[in-house]
Amino acid sequence: MNLYLLKGEKYNYIIDTGLGSLSVAPIIEYIKNDTKQIIVINTHYHWDHTWGNGSFENCMIISHKLCRETLQSEWTDMIQNNSHRCYGEVKMNLPNLVFEQELYFPEDKIRLFYSPGHTIDSISVLDEEEKVLVVADNIGESMEDIIPSLDCDKEVYMNTIKKYEQMDFDTCISGHNTVLNKKVIGKILGMM
Ligand SMILES: [Zn+2]
Repeated sequence: MNLYLLKGEKYNYIIDTGLGSLSVAPIIEYIKNDTKQIIVINTHYHWDHTWGNGSFENCMIISHKLCRETLQSEWTDMIQNNSHRCYGEVKMNLPNLVFEQELYFPEDKIRLFYSPGHTIDSISVLDEEEKVLVVADNIGESMEDIIPSLDCDKEVYMNTIKKYEQMDFDTCISGHNTVLNKKVIGKILGMM
């Protein structure tokens, strides 16, 4: 599974927190001498993207409004059903800044936007400076399974993919696949 560190002019952004404290420890170590404030982003509520949140007690943690709500309601079940997957300490630490459609950090040209499909609470992150789009689990984990499991109607997912197509980026990063380029979007559209 991929966690992504995005070093901006003003903030350092950590996208998703993996399976627990040990998932995020290498990133925290990597930026330990950096004085910039850390902003954590949860792309969606799934446990393999949020269990390391506990390592960021005094940080801003951003997600979609529905992600916070679902984390709160599903937390205990997610732990019970997947406890053998915990990697280090796993402690609930809910997002403390939520949005519904879009959030923009002009100093870093970082755009967070709602992108339902894989889940109803999914968000994506566009780094307009580096032309990198982080789609999280809206792209499946291998080229054979490029379309992920969808909690939403196919149409909702298609609209998100079409939105991606309109955006200006070269590199596409997902939660579990290899680093891809924009061509993958056209490929998905061709398959639907
Ligand atoms: Zn997921």
